[in-house]
Amino acid sequence: STIAAEFSKTVSTYGPHEAAYFAETGTRLTYAELGRLVDELAAGLLTLGLKKGDRIGIWSPNRLEWVLIQFATARIGLILVNINPAYRLSELEYALNKVGCKALVTAATFKSSDYLEMIRTLAPEIDNCSAGDLKSATLPDLKIVIRMGEEQSAGMLNFDDVVARGSAAVDIPVLDDITNSLSADDAINIQFTSGTTGSPKGATLTHKNIINNGNFVTSALALTDKDKLCIPVPLYHCFGMVMGTLGCITKGATMVFPGEAFEPASTLKTIATEQCTALYGVPTMFVGMLQHPEFSAFDLSSLRTGIMAGAPCPIEVMKQVIADMHMTEVTIAYGMTETSPVSFQSSTTDSVERRVTTVGRIHPHVEVRIVDEDGNILPVGEQGELWTRGYSVMQGYWGDAERTAESIVEDGWMRTGDLAVLDRDGYCNIVGRVKDMIIRGGENVYPREIEEFLYRNPKIQEVQVFGIPSKKLGEEVCTWIVLQPGEDCNEEEIKAFCQGQIAHYKIPAHVRFKSELPMTVTGKPQKFVMRDAMIEELK
Ligand code: ATP
Ligand code: MG
Repeated sequence: STIAAEFSKTVSTYGPHEAAYFAETGTRLTYAELGRLVDELAAGLLTLGLKKGDRIGIWSPNRLEWVLIQFATARIGLILVNINPAYRLSELEYALNKVGCKALVTAATFKSSDYLEMIRTLAPEIDNCSAGDLKSATLPDLKIVIRMGEEQSAGMLNFDDVVARGSAAVDIPVLDDITNSLSADDAINIQFTSGTTGSPKGATLTHKNIINNGNFVTSALALTDKDKLCIPVPLYHCFGMVMGTLGCITKGATMVFPGEAFEPASTLKTIATEQCTALYGVPTMFVGMLQHPEFSAFDLSSLRTGIMAGAPCPIEVMKQVIADMHMTEVTIAYGMTETSPVSFQSSTTDSVERRVTTVGRIHPHVEVRIVDEDGNILPVGEQGELWTRGYSVMQGYWGDAERTAESIVEDGWMRTGDLAVLDRDGYCNIVGRVKDMIIRGGENVYPREIEEFLYRNPKIQEVQVFGIPSKKLGEEVCTWIVLQPGEDCNEEEIKAFCQGQIAHYKIPAHVRFKSELPMTVTGKPQKFVMRDAMIEELK
C-alpha cells in the first residue's frame, strides 16, 4: 500500500479523533482537519507545477508545516527530502544539489538561525527573481522556495498562501487519480543518515519501505487509537517521521509534539498535561529528562510504553526509565536510516533483563545474518557484522551507485556496519560499530563495554570511549567525560576507578573532562569529532 492510501483510510476511519497537538503553538487538529489541510496543500503544490518524482526539500524544526508537507507530498508522489535543521550553508547546498531539489520548504527562523538569510547568501539571485522561478548559479535545480511565517520575501512563496491557493483549487477526483497512480515501490522520501561516522548519505526510501516499518514499530508497542505518542525527536529523521508520524497514522493514534526541538522541561510538561501514553527518545534525551532538577514535579503516570533508540542505551538509564518514568513497557529498537529504519525491537512483554541487555528480536518480514570479514555466516553466539534483508532495505543512496554497491551486496543484503551477536532465541546484542572497534596492541577493545563500566561511577553524567592512532600500540583508548553538575574529578581518579576492575589494556590512556560532547542533532555522540580533536591536541 502507499502512504497516501493508508493516510486516507485513517482519515476516514478516525475523522473526529485527535490527530496532532503542537504544544509550542497550541495547535490541535482532528484527523478530518489534518486530512483537509493535506489535500489543500497537495492541491497548492500541484498549482506550482510540481509533479510525481520531483524532489522537494524541507528544512525546518518540528512544526505543523512539516507534518502537512510529509502527507501532502505522499498524496501526489513528490519525493520528500529531509534536510537537517542544523545544516548550514555548505551542507544545505550539498543536500539540495545532491538530489536535485526543485522546491524547498523552509522555516524563516529557528532559534538564532536565520534560514532565509542563509538561502539569500547561497542564491543571491533570489532577490531579483519572481517567486517560483528562481535562477541560481549555485542551486541550479532549485526553482521554488516556500517560506513559513507571516512576512513576504522577494522571490519566495508563503506557505500559507500555497495552502490558500490549494484550498480554492482542491479537486478530490484529481488528487485521488494521482494517488491511485502511485506504486508502493516508488521512491517517496530521501533521508540523510545522521553523519555519526562521517558525511551524511541520502538514503532513497519507498512507500513500501517506510509505511510498513511505521506500522510494525507501533504494532510492537501495541499502540491503538487510544494512545497519545509524545514525539520530541526531530521529524527530519526517520525516528520522528517514520516511527512517529507514520507509525501513528497506521493506528489512528495521536501525535503530540512538545516543541520545535527537544528540551527536557517542555517535554516533561507536555507528557504530564496531555497525559501521553508513549514517548520516543534517544538515550541522551531520557538522561536529560531524568536529570532535570524538577523531574519529580511532573506527573508521568500516564506513560506506558515507548522507544529508546538510535544509540546504545546504558543499562542504568533503562532501569530508571522503567522505574521513574513509569514506562514499564518501554522497548529498545535498533535500526538505521537505510533500513527504514527499524529491524530489531524488543517486545513490551520481554523481561527487563532482556530489554536492558539486547535490542530484541528481528521484525516481521526481515531476515538477518551475522558474518565475518569475508561475508561468511557465523554460528549462533559468535560476534560479527550484522546484515539484514527484506522489504525494509532502501532503494539505494541517491545518485551514488558506488556507495550503494558497497552497502547493499549480494542478493539484496544490507551491510549495517555494526557488530552484533545473536543468541539462540534470536535476541540481538549490538556491540558497536565495526569502525569504532579499537585494536590496541593486538587486543580488540569495544568502547561500549568501557562506557558501561564508567557509567557506574556516580560522578559521571555522560561518557564516550574512542580510539586514536598510536605508533607503539596501533591504537590507544581515550575517553571524554561530562561530570554530573557540581562534581569534581581528575584523570588519575578515573584511571584508579578502572584499576583492577577492567583489563589493563582497556583502561583509557587519555581522559578529558568536557562540558558537553559533540553530538548530531539527533543527539548521537560523534566519536569521529572527538577522535580528530584528540589527535590534534596530542600532536
Ligand atoms: P552515518 O551512517 O551517517 O555515520 P548513523 O549511522 O548514525 O550515521 P543513522 O542511520 O541515523 O545514522 O543511525 C544508524 C546507526 O545507529 C546504526 O548503524 C547503529 O550504529 C546505531 N544504532 C541505532 N540503534 C541502536 C541501538 N539500539 N543500539 C546501538 N546502536 C544503535
Ligand atoms: Mg550509518
